[in-house]
Parts: sequence; structure tokens; C-alpha cells
Amino acid sequence: MSEEPSPLSGGCLCGRVRYEARPMDRDGYYCHCRMCQLAFGNTRAAYLNLRKDEMRWLAPPAFYASSKIARRGFCSRCGTPLSFEFLDSDRMDLAVGSLDDPALIRPTEHFSIETRLDAWHAEDGLPGERLDSNQRIGGLWRQAYGESVVPGLQAVRDAATIDTPMTPTTKDPG
Ligand SMILES: [Zn+2]
Ligand SMILES: [Zn+2]
Repeated sequence: MSEEPSPLSGGCLCGRVRYEARPMDRDGYYCHCRMCQLAFGNTRAAYLNLRKDEMRWLAPPAFYASSKIARRGFCSRCGTPLSFEFLDSDRMDLAVGSLDDPALIRPTEHFSIETRLDAWHAEDGLPGERLDSNQRIGGLWRQAYGESVVPGLQAVRDAATIDTPMTPTTKDPG
């Protein structure tokens, strides 16, 4: 028990982004939310959750704000999705597939099961949690988007529509 496991390493497809991680455990989970489906271009995302101070970027990724409260790391050259984090958290997620040895991580639960795609899911006996029943995450969304927000993709798209400057409808002739 006293022996510290060797660090995990990983990075993107093309090799530009690299990281090293020393998580407390090797438990992963699936996220089935619509935003992760889109961010990964896949039916679900597989994550390793760890403290931010348990990993370091050796060659950092680019980031984009996927909502007002979170950012996602990706490789700006090859596009590999690498990470997810709430800005206001000391924890983050790494994409399991980005590890040099993804087999070291085993799935232990499902998250956002209300948008899980039944046809792409084989019952594995693992516990699941609904996104809309997670009070902590709901609170983060309400703080950023207002009390009536339904956390998720539509809220981000609605807010983006409002924030985007109007395109001028008139053009200078000639
Ligand atoms: Zn890359
Ligand atoms: Zn998700």
C-alpha cells in the first residue's frame, strides 16, 4: 500500500500535447451529456477524474470555454479532446483515451444517464447518476445562467445567441 503507483502519461494523437498525472485512484467514469457527446464527436466520453494538482501539462493544450463555467482542453493541431474542468473547482477530468495506456483505468460509473443512448449502451451493472439531479453542478449553472436554467447544451446556445452582436442588416451601397 505504501508504494506510490507510477505516474500516468498521455497526450494527443499527433504528439504535440503531453501530460503526466498521479491520481489517487484509477477509477474512471462515462459522461453521457450532450456537451461531451459533441465535444468528443462520440456517443459518450470516458473520463478519469482527479485533482488539478495531481497532473501537469508537459506540453499544454489549447482551451475553449464550452460554457461560462467550464473549459475543455484540446490539441490545436490534431483536434484530440483531452480534458474538462469547471473553472471553480480543484478537480478536473482527463480523457481516458488520451492516456498512453488507457487499459490502466476501469469504468466505475455513468453520469448524465438521462441522455445516454440506449442503442449504444450495453448494461454493465455500473451505477448511474442523472445530470439534473446533481445539486453541485446545478448550482454552478444557476449561478452563471440564472435560476431557471436547465444545465446543458441548450442553455449555452441560448446565451451565445443573446451575447452575439447583431449582424448589420444594411449594407453601404457601392
Ligand atoms: Zn495533437
Ligand atoms: Zn459531460
